[in-house]
Amino acid sequence: ILEGQAALITGSTSGIGLGIARLYAEAGAKVMLNGFGKPEEIAKARAEIGALMGGGECPYSPADMSKPAEVRAMVAAAESAFGRLDILVNNAGIQFVSAVQDFPDEKWDAIIAINMSSNFHAIKAAMPGMLARKYGRIINVASAHGLVASPYKSAYVAAKHGVVGMTKSIALEIAESPITCNAICPGFVRTPLAEAQVKPLAEKHGVSEEVALKDHLLAKQPSKRWVEVEEVARMALYLVGPGSGGVNGAALSIDGGWLAA
Ligand code: NAD
Repeated sequence: ILEGQAALITGSTSGIGLGIARLYAEAGAKVMLNGFGKPEEIAKARAEIGALMGGGECPYSPADMSKPAEVRAMVAAAESAFGRLDILVNNAGIQFVSAVQDFPDEKWDAIIAINMSSNFHAIKAAMPGMLARKYGRIINVASAHGLVASPYKSAYVAAKHGVVGMTKSIALEIAESPITCNAICPGFVRTPLAEAQVKPLAEKHGVSEEVALKDHLLAKQPSKRWVEVEEVARMALYLVGPGSGGVNGAALSIDGGWLAA
């Protein structure tokens, strides 16, 4: 369903971004990857997605999402690699958990830059081409924490609420065009970013990792199970597939019931 379309997915060397890249490539899109990681892991991801695209390594940008000039250069590189950019998925993100009085300033700055401002810089850079070609699909991977808060995540919750607000504002700007801009709001998804939070919780509460996962990390997720990467990727595929043009400015929850409680 994505034959002939070109997609750029930030933070796609791991987790949700890699899952979206996989599904988009399987659906026929040309995909550019971005993100950090060990060179061999990046090479593996490029080879895997490249094979799904019909052979060779897929294009990759090493751009650091905390640096606006690199974000702009990444969008330009995607446009020049593919001659177009139909789909932009802003997904790169980091987490840091701490009481506000101990929250390091540099962590605050990094989370705001990577999780929120990079979305603005990428959309700003991609929009002229989408407007000129009269088509575009923009997805911002926000979070349940873009809609509600949890303690000790002031920077993350601020950034993700910002992403949801930015999504709505940009959606209104382009509402009469054939471009859409939406946010996906996952609960806890089984990825390195979320799994890294289990061990510290187990240590803090003096319980096993299994108990820490169910009773503490997933305390607000009524399903009491991880959302899976492929489930989030399927929502991201829907938003760029046929029949999705009426969805604009939405913040779609995929959180095992979290926001319903
Ligand atoms: P992950 O750690 O598996 O992947 C994060 C990706 O972002 C990696 O490819 C990493 O290299 C990249 N990245 C980090 N800093 C970067 C930078 N400065 N420049 C470029 N790339 C950078 O995490 P994930 O769980 O797949 O998270 C993806 C997105 O989903 C994030 O925005 C996260 O906030 C969001 N999210 C995750 C969950 C969850 O439970 N896993 C829940 C809600 C929202």
